[in-house]
Amino acid sequence: MPDRRRRGPEPTDPYIPHHGSTGYSVAHYDLDLSYAVQTNRLDGRAVIDVVARETVDALRFDLIGLDVKKVSVGGRKPKRFAVRDGALEVRLAAPAPSGTRLRVDIRYSGSPSPVVGRWGEVGWEELTDGVIVAGQPEGAPSWFPCNDRPGDKATYRIAVATDPDYAVVVGGRPSVPRRGAGHVRWEYTQDRPTSPYLMTVQIGRYERFDLPGAGVVQAAYVPPRLRARAAHDLGRQRQMMDLFEHLFGPYPFGEYAVVVTDDDLEIPLEAQALSIFGANHVDGGRRSERLVAHELAHQWFGNSVGVATWQHIWLNEGFACYSEWLWWDHLRTRSVDTAARNAYLGLAASRQDLVIADPGPELMFDDRVYKRGALTLHAIRAALGDVAFFAMVREWVSDHADGTVTTDDFLDHLRRHDPDGESVVLARRWLLHADLPDLPRLGAPGRHSGLPERVARVARRVTPG
Ligand SMILES: [Zn+2]
Repeated sequence: MPDRRRRGPEPTDPYIPHHGSTGYSVAHYDLDLSYAVQTNRLDGRAVIDVVARETVDALRFDLIGLDVKKVSVGGRKPKRFAVRDGALEVRLAAPAPSGTRLRVDIRYSGSPSPVVGRWGEVGWEELTDGVIVAGQPEGAPSWFPCNDRPGDKATYRIAVATDPDYAVVVGGRPSVPRRGAGHVRWEYTQDRPTSPYLMTVQIGRYERFDLPGAGVVQAAYVPPRLRARAAHDLGRQRQMMDLFEHLFGPYPFGEYAVVVTDDDLEIPLEAQALSIFGANHVDGGRRSERLVAHELAHQWFGNSVGVATWQHIWLNEGFACYSEWLWWDHLRTRSVDTAARNAYLGLAASRQDLVIADPGPELMFDDRVYKRGALTLHAIRAALGDVAFFAMVREWVSDHADGTVTTDDFLDHLRRHDPDGESVVLARRWLLHADLPDLPRLGAPGRHSGLPERVARVARRVTPG
């Protein structure tokens, strides 16, 4: 299995150049947090295991809007430390050669608030009654000191003690909550390597219920008033999971959790082993079901197979958008060809000045990245045929599980699956140029006479409506 992290230092992400360090990587974050909902007061201890990737005399952790009281490195005082310009800089007592492992212990506190930047407000944010953390793309430092590059994946243990009226959802393997004096302590373990932006804390007056059925444990955390609507609107998520596991390979994590906030949200968002929806996304009529599919698909594309840097975000969003179409196709409410044609017409009516392999930071969340990314996959599928296409996708997921990837990695992967190279030529046209290629179509039966039998059976089990 290729491991992109052993290639040597990657550049600091050009889309968020003020974040992240390439001088070291993090192996593990151990966070102990205590949080008062009413006063928005956070007290934290972060024990971070880092590995120097070059000789370093200082370590820079992204941390925005919070104070640091105490730092130790390997149990000793560092030469000095200071928080400025959105970072905690720790000067080491002596230079650490490449390969050195260091344990950095940081005590910090404050009133966390969102990071304000070109993508609006991201990170730790107070809800009407609770907390949401939306880390993408630069919000992680609003609540813990980190190496905020998507390419720097690590494992986590996170404990949060808070008021007993609230539930805390982090994603990963939960422990049984423990009652203390005036608080309840929630603890989660995330054993799979995870980018900092995909770690999250959700706090609210949530009740947990598990979606019925066998297979991957699927938990929903919802305010009691939304329970019936959420149970209905997530009612087909288990079939979705079956379909995606068949098409993409096994679900990459342990359990999968969904949080529905009591507030409305502009957009849902993905985190590791977890997705977050607003109250407005569960209307009791499944009108946001495509988003349920989209966020679930991110567990494979974006979370397990992550981007090395933000420039490659089409690899997350193109696959997630295409997964919406695959879901519709299997419900038989809309064929994937029809969804592709609709998206194509939208793109044809838009400006064609975007290269999705490098859209630039301003436009990385532009809808054209999503739609054109999905159409790229559709064009590849039309060229390869269904069997070869889904074999290519499954191998992409298994080869790069827990790792990070670039567009070049994807093109190399495609080349190995298509010795004739037709799909590579098409993919390059869709990814590396701004003008719109012809509409790809799967067309009549033949190579596209449908997916394998098991998927057809999954589809039949689903009741459209
Ligand atoms: Zn997405």
